[in-house]
Amino acid sequence: MEKIILTGLRPTGNLHLGHYFGAVRNWVKLQEEYQTYIEIADVQALTDNFNNPEKVRKNVKEVALDFLALGLDPKKVTIFIQSAIPEIAELTVFYSNLVTIARLYRNPTIKTEIKQKKELFGNDGESLTYGFLGYPVSQAADITVFNGNLIPVGEDQLPLIEQCREIVRKFNHIYGDILREPEALLDKNARIKGLDGNEKMGKSLGNAIFLVDDPETVSKKIMSAKTDPQKIKKDDKADPEVCMVYYYHKLVNDNNISTVCKECQNGMRGCVACKKELIEHMVEFLKPIQEKRKELEEQKIVDQILKEGTQKAQEKAKETMKKIKESMKIDYFDEISK
Ligand code: SF4
Repeated sequence: MEKIILTGLRPTGNLHLGHYFGAVRNWVKLQEEYQTYIEIADVQALTDNFNNPEKVRKNVKEVALDFLALGLDPKKVTIFIQSAIPEIAELTVFYSNLVTIARLYRNPTIKTEIKQKKELFGNDGESLTYGFLGYPVSQAADITVFNGNLIPVGEDQLPLIEQCREIVRKFNHIYGDILREPEALLDKNARIKGLDGNEKMGKSLGNAIFLVDDPETVSKKIMSAKTDPQKIKKDDKADPEVCMVYYYHKLVNDNNISTVCKECQNGMRGCVACKKELIEHMVEFLKPIQEKRKELEEQKIVDQILKEGTQKAQEKAKETMKKIKESMKIDYFDEISK
């Protein structure tokens, strides 16, 4: 049976290195092998940004540009906007009857995100919205409306796939064997650390290098990156494995990574010189992406690519929804139109 990949990102800002090394790099490989749908999840972005629709709107195009500049090819993948597929919202409502509130609260991904929200914003549980708590249900709708059966995720997102599988099993048990149970396509590199050493690079964490960052910004950010705190003087020996500069050298510096490691361990390299070297490699790494991005912007083709991708996604979603409604006995007027 044909393998269909469904994946995507929330348009809340430009993409950063974490998005590229943790997700999009893998999607670029997957597009060669599978039928791939890439969702720009604006409805999901609104769960946290419902009072800032302009931000979400602006970033839909920004994220699409980043995707294309990173090598996602609209001839091979279908890039679409979530809100333009009403079937997803419809299916979310149907699925909401199949999931208990208690089960959503037990979802480990949701638990972690609630904890992070409390730490960041001091939210108590009472201020969580219904939309936020229900986003795993909406994700199940995203996946199943495209018949997706391979979902690239990091380990922390496995509970979301499990939640989707449960919904599918319950749906099929009640309404007939209509939906496919998705499988996780685990990407062990899905999490990229931040400049401050945080386990996750994130815009809201202020520890990210964005793909659109100019050389000056890249330089400032790298100069403030966390290094081995034990190294005080230039010729102190250090442990590169606890240093974020070395961590990023490993990502973008193919040439002399073993030299960086040895010189650091033997006290033969100062942190300032090491950071300057990384800045050069990082700027070189970002340059072709930024050039491609500029070219795409000048060609003004992004709107058309999004429109065509969304139309293709709409057709697929309609096809699935027809079967779903038949199985749920809510296809009232189909008989009349036959
Ligand atoms: Fe990190 Fe380089 Fe300093 Fe070693 S020399 S601690 S790798 S910045």
